[in-house]
Amino acid sequence: MISLYLHIPFCKTKCTYCAFNTYTNLDALIAPFNEALAREIAIVGRSKPGLRVGTIFFGGGTPSLLTPEQFARLLAAIRASFVVATDVEVTIEANPNDLNSRDYLAALRQLGINRLSIGMQSANVNELDLFARRHDNDQVVRAVSNARAAGFDNLNLDLIYGFPHQTLFSWETTLQQALALQPEHFSLYALGLEEGTPMKDWVAKGRLPMPDDDLSADMYELATEKLTAAGYRQYEISNWAKPGYECRHNLQYWHNLDYVGVGPGAHGWAGGVRYATILSPQRYIKALEIAEAHYDYPHTPATSEPVVVDRENEIAETLIMGLRLTQEGIQRAAFRERFGEDLLAIHGATLEKYARYGLLEITGQSVRITAKGRLLSNMLFRELV
Ligand code: SF4
Repeated sequence: MISLYLHIPFCKTKCTYCAFNTYTNLDALIAPFNEALAREIAIVGRSKPGLRVGTIFFGGGTPSLLTPEQFARLLAAIRASFVVATDVEVTIEANPNDLNSRDYLAALRQLGINRLSIGMQSANVNELDLFARRHDNDQVVRAVSNARAAGFDNLNLDLIYGFPHQTLFSWETTLQQALALQPEHFSLYALGLEEGTPMKDWVAKGRLPMPDDDLSADMYELATEKLTAAGYRQYEISNWAKPGYECRHNLQYWHNLDYVGVGPGAHGWAGGVRYATILSPQRYIKALEIAEAHYDYPHTPATSEPVVVDRENEIAETLIMGLRLTQEGIQRAAFRERFGEDLLAIHGATLEKYARYGLLEITGQSVRITAKGRLLSNMLFRELV
């Protein structure tokens, strides 16, 4: 069973911290892009008939810029190309101000889209201004209420912390406002200063202060405390869910299992190949126009940088992804079944060293990261590769 990721590379405006492959002022390309994406889906389907799909994720970019008809076209292409599980999880990432119409949301729900991931980011207007987001908190409240009215019972809110000028108090306000909306899931992202973004440039030029790592760690701990008290279970370093609402699509990534990525700037890991796709939407559309009849799975005319991953690297990737799962960790029996060897027989020395430091917990069933290890996870993951 694979997962399917579709990258929708369009946004109305560019947020000041964002380094994703996304473009503004290209509305005229959305329709031809959608057709190209439907063709890419069909190419993957033809290259491996009967492939089963358990989760579908429209990410971006801003998928909520697509019309219900455009989603319908893509979902029809998926259903024609793959065997879609009856309990398929279908997520779209959405900007709050694209969710101001109940009719739009009802149409999405009608199409089988059953999970919304809403980019709330902050409840504070000055912070949203710093990010150049196009919404305010009232629009988030309306978006959630409209989504509920349209029948969505699986909502995620994305929040950002650890950015310049943010205080523990403003973060607490954001958490309180977000908790009041009672979503099923939270994704909390520590701001990274990404190359080429205005935010990084402003910090480099001294126009904004450098984010404070200690304060960021305090924010993480505050969030952990508040979300746990509200009945959310942390199941991954940055993700919390009500029981039964863990994101199945992202679990596929963290279990290092196959996912096909389509659309410009997507990534994929399928059939032993890790790959990216062409970044430019214009080049992507062109590449799909001159597609040949057959490509070897999981390649398409949009595939770039395919790398065949050897066993050693697959083990390292499985380890790093699995350690992100704070409750489940890496299940040793599943690891043995997949790689024919016990995890400790391969990486025992390193893992036991970190267990002695209190960063990992090793039992007969699993290896998982401790609360202390979560705060130092980047350092730990670097050592493991
Ligand atoms: S809406 Fe999302 S993808 Fe688009 S610019 Fe902002 S953060 Fe990036």
